[in-house]
Amino acid sequence: MNFINHNVQKLKAYVYGEQPSRSSGVIKLNTNENPYPPHPDMKKKLAGFRTDLLRLYPDPQCHALTKAASAYLAIDSGCIVFGNGSDELIANIFKIFFGSNDKVLFTEYTYTYYHVFAGIHGLRVYTLPMQHDFKVDLKLVKNYPVKVVFLTNPNSPTGIAVPAAQIAAALKENKNKLFIIDEAYADFADENCIPLLRHFSNLVILRTFSKAFSFCGGRLGYALSTKKNIKAFFKVKDPYNISTVTQLLGEDIFRNINYYKGHIKKIIALREHFAKQLVALGFSVLPSSANFIFCTHPGLSAASLAAYLRENNILVRYFNKPGLKKYLRITIGTELQMQKVYKRISHYLDAN
Ligand code: PMP
Repeated sequence: MNFINHNVQKLKAYVYGEQPSRSSGVIKLNTNENPYPPHPDMKKKLAGFRTDLLRLYPDPQCHALTKAASAYLAIDSGCIVFGNGSDELIANIFKIFFGSNDKVLFTEYTYTYYHVFAGIHGLRVYTLPMQHDFKVDLKLVKNYPVKVVFLTNPNSPTGIAVPAAQIAAALKENKNKLFIIDEAYADFADENCIPLLRHFSNLVILRTFSKAFSFCGGRLGYALSTKKNIKAFFKVKDPYNISTVTQLLGEDIFRNINYYKGHIKKIIALREHFAKQLVALGFSVLPSSANFIFCTHPGLSAASLAAYLRENNILVRYFNKPGLKKYLRITIGTELQMQKVYKRISHYLDAN
């Protein structure tokens, strides 16, 4: 007897990037983590943490964190909900907004985790094709009979951002569709959709502390939307979804936000520098607004280069999928790490 739900039986599991052992000494540029450590205050916070608090459940409303986010973003606290990583918020979006006959639109190449939930809920998925340069034309959205549109912006794995003005136009043109704008990488971009929240009620924005704020392991993200939509998140979420420790450390991130902004600036500068270096080696590099670059070389097999880098303790992301096979996604690390990666790639090109 197979007890597993039919949709789950058919489900293709999410394939995450390799997570090597902590002591392996590899340069890990495959899952868009931040190469810089959290603010030193965090260590003090952890050292002084009152462990007796762990006896009690965490604050289900994340009051202090929400207050800090509200002040930082200048957004009403009723329009904010925190998640155990933005991945949890994605799962909740599928619980909140979809009935079994609803349809969803994803762009051709996007964060594949969305597909897992569409599969669990048995939803019909429509695909918005990308142009040859991986750009997205939101003017086409109106042609799809869907209730919800997901847009990763800037996108992964491409790094390309749709300008906020184009998103505003799409929100206006498609008032009967809900847009989920996943801004996991927006801290590395020139603009974001937060200013649009006051104008549109068909908008949910997702943010994470994983990329720009060096906090993947803490698991913290938030969603921004109308009060009505945010109330629905509170209805479906695990009441105690953010641990006491994570709430405390999250507050610390808001307190030291300028420290993290310094790292963001460094990563952006290094991204541009590294992209130029790769172009000089004959690569084409897509214009990135994220903390990674997506690149291809006409004379090389991306799979072989990824394997060579792996042999030399450098992990980058290779997607063995139609349309993406010629590309590598490389997270921007520290200056020293990027120098090593550049050297290895040049060496490989010389030898091949
Ligand atoms: N959205 C996108 C586009 C991502 O790339 C990721 C990270 N893989 C997430 C959401 C999830 O981030 P978190 O660590 O906050 O769950």
